[in-house]
Amino acid sequence: MELETPRTFRDRPINITDTGHRKWIYARQPKGIWYTRRTIVAWIAISFLVLAPFVKINGNPLMLFDVANRKFSIFGQMIWAQDSYLMALIMGVTVVFIVLFTVIYGRLWCGWACPQTLFLEMVYRRIEYLFEGNYRGSKKNHKVTSQNFLRKMAKHAVFILISILITNIFLNWIIGPERLWAIISEPIQMHLFGFFVMLGISIFYYWIYAFFREQVCTMICPYGRLQGVLLDSKSVAVIYDYKRGEPRGPKSTGDCIDCHQCISVCPTGIDIKNGSQLECINCTACIDECNIVMEKINRPKNLIRFDSVYGLETGKRSVLNARTYAYSGVLAILIVFLGIAIFERKPIDTTILRVSGSIYQRVDSVNYSNLYLLKIINKTQTDKRINLKLITPGSGTIQLTTGQTLLKTQGILESVVIVNLNKKDLTGKSTPIEVGIYEGNTLLQQYHTNFLGPDRK
Ligand code: SF4
Ligand code: SF4
Repeated sequence: MELETPRTFRDRPINITDTGHRKWIYARQPKGIWYTRRTIVAWIAISFLVLAPFVKINGNPLMLFDVANRKFSIFGQMIWAQDSYLMALIMGVTVVFIVLFTVIYGRLWCGWACPQTLFLEMVYRRIEYLFEGNYRGSKKNHKVTSQNFLRKMAKHAVFILISILITNIFLNWIIGPERLWAIISEPIQMHLFGFFVMLGISIFYYWIYAFFREQVCTMICPYGRLQGVLLDSKSVAVIYDYKRGEPRGPKSTGDCIDCHQCISVCPTGIDIKNGSQLECINCTACIDECNIVMEKINRPKNLIRFDSVYGLETGKRSVLNARTYAYSGVLAILIVFLGIAIFERKPIDTTILRVSGSIYQRVDSVNYSNLYLLKIINKTQTDKRINLKLITPGSGTIQLTTGQTLLKTQGILESVVIVNLNKKDLTGKSTPIEVGIYEGNTLLQQYHTNFLGPDRK
């Protein structure tokens, strides 16, 4: 369909002028049911971001991504770098989840859950409305007067404070509240590096939210750039019903009166009437605004709505259909699968490897021994007093050479162990054996390896 609007939106980002300069977007605050829903979702999400590192499950934080120490806690389950299969599984499931979720629901994440949008739209923009009024595009707010200057200074002072707070939220997720508190409470010279990291991140957040803003979504975010390949005609998105709306104009027969209200609330400054665009973060502000207009002019609501291009063109129900249910089912299965893999993990991680270059030793006329290097990682929040038993063959013995049996919380125990077997238990040059790692009588993990002996032939 040939639209009559200027085509410049196809030639360059909407927030760049034809001379290549930044065009500031001054979005009006939307109001309506979608904005209310989004506000509720946003505050739940922000509360989660703030509280998750403080909530403890079995002594582990609900969420921690300690990249430096390669220690991650997901819903209270500690995951170490050694859990490589789990890390690979999490990454694989995450990629599949992102692709499927985007194919079905489009950029719902961007408008409703992405921290960039949450903080920009629900925190910084609201502070801006508070200090400078709802519509900063008005000439009044741009006039250089002492009152406007003071307003701007006050706004930026609050922006800086909020940026420091967000830095603390971020660092709680990365290093945990205890280490962050140490940086904050102890003398600065003890944590000079930590202090400068905090300062740097705070300045970065301030710059992002006060100045760079929507350009993160429209120019930098890799997820945003992927939309072109992930979305198809059945993906759900915020779209303008051109069948109903066109021909547009105050005196035209279409429902759109071309009032530009939908553009005035758009945080990325685009005109959704031009069709799906990379800059649209599916925030729904234009739905609310257009619904207000529709109500005023006595036309049916949802000229702009959540729908798919396919649904719009065919008139078929397309938001919740068989495909959505099927893909959502796959997503649910993936999450359950990942949940089981995380929660079914062993509390310890053991490796038993034969000492490099060693074969077997003859102890006496009937017994042989092998030397192994034992390494046990305690993934729990409690110390463990461990003991080793040879499960198969039951008549053999296993012994820690260091005599140390205390495995500290989240610590590592390393020792050489000696396994003794009677020659009647040997099945050949290499005999499979099974080692049990116990805490008291509780079996924590079984480990399979091989015992070398003389050839029986
Ligand atoms: S708010 Fe609705 S009526 Fe006004 S221009 Fe946008 S789509 Fe058309
Ligand atoms: S076009 Fe509508 S949904 Fe998309 S970003 Fe703008 S206001 Fe939000």
